[in-house]
Amino acid sequence: MTSFADRDGYIWYDGELRPWRECTTHVLTYTLHYGVGCFEGVRAYRTPKGTAIFRLEDHTRRLFNSAKIIGMKMPWTPEQLNEAQKEVLRANKLEEAYIRPMVFYGSEGMGLRAAGLQTHVIIAAWTWGAYLGADNMERGIRIKTSSFQRHYVNASLCRAKANANYLNSSMALNEVLRDGYDEALMLDPEGYVAEGSAENIFVISNGVISTPDVTSALDGITRRSVMQLAKDLGYEVRERRITRDELYVCDEVFFTGTAAEVTPIREVDNRPVGAGSRGPITAQLQKAYLDQVKGRSEKYPEWLALI
Ligand code: PMP
Repeated sequence: MTSFADRDGYIWYDGELRPWRECTTHVLTYTLHYGVGCFEGVRAYRTPKGTAIFRLEDHTRRLFNSAKIIGMKMPWTPEQLNEAQKEVLRANKLEEAYIRPMVFYGSEGMGLRAAGLQTHVIIAAWTWGAYLGADNMERGIRIKTSSFQRHYVNASLCRAKANANYLNSSMALNEVLRDGYDEALMLDPEGYVAEGSAENIFVISNGVISTPDVTSALDGITRRSVMQLAKDLGYEVRERRITRDELYVCDEVFFTGTAAEVTPIREVDNRPVGAGSRGPITAQLQKAYLDQVKGRSEKYPEWLALI
């Protein structure tokens, strides 16, 4: 596989489109050492009206909120970064893409106390298919509870999609991948269900849909979208504490995320969920979500930003 650094195309870097291979940074980049940065994961889909970025403004707002939470000063306005994301898709002639904006400090200083650090912003985009495998969108995935906990609320700030928060996600994910599972389930420090390494989780019992609140899970934009679509379909949706054993005996479980979209979970900790395949409500919500992002549903036109 070729390196991500060695590709054709353009990356938006501090206000201009630069050739992909020239978008390098120095090894003494502050964020590389301390993880102080924030990012987004956004998707653009081909729709009947042309390529559209799903909930662009909401993603950009979350990026600005992440920066505010971790105390980084943004050198651009949300409007400028919205436009820049569209520009990246046009410049790279991408009809469907995953977009990665990232905000970081440069090499203006070293040591935790470095003063005069400057905020830099990059936006890259590339073609990315089903994050957890195309077959698994129907079959469902196998997840395993990780021995790594989700962050304690006052240790890492989970409302921020901060680079440093992903040390935990990466360790949890790689632990379960090594053991042959598809994705990790993380519990919060009190032992309640929190989320996946890059997904929010939903559980369905007796037709009621529940998801943990966002004290120790990211305020996912797919989560918000699916909650809305589920309510529109007439389901009761609750945000509440969920225990690990509840997942073992419920009817359906699924993950949501920009990358994962709506991914069914067929097994939790080696126990089949429901019938051991994608459940009917999961299938219905998955279809509602994909219809929305691909512009086949006219329900929320404000969620689609045409490029
Ligand atoms: N939780 C974590 C830890 C994530 O990294 C993500 C992906 N951004 C999500 C949940 C899902 O969020 P979204 O639906 O906004 O992509």
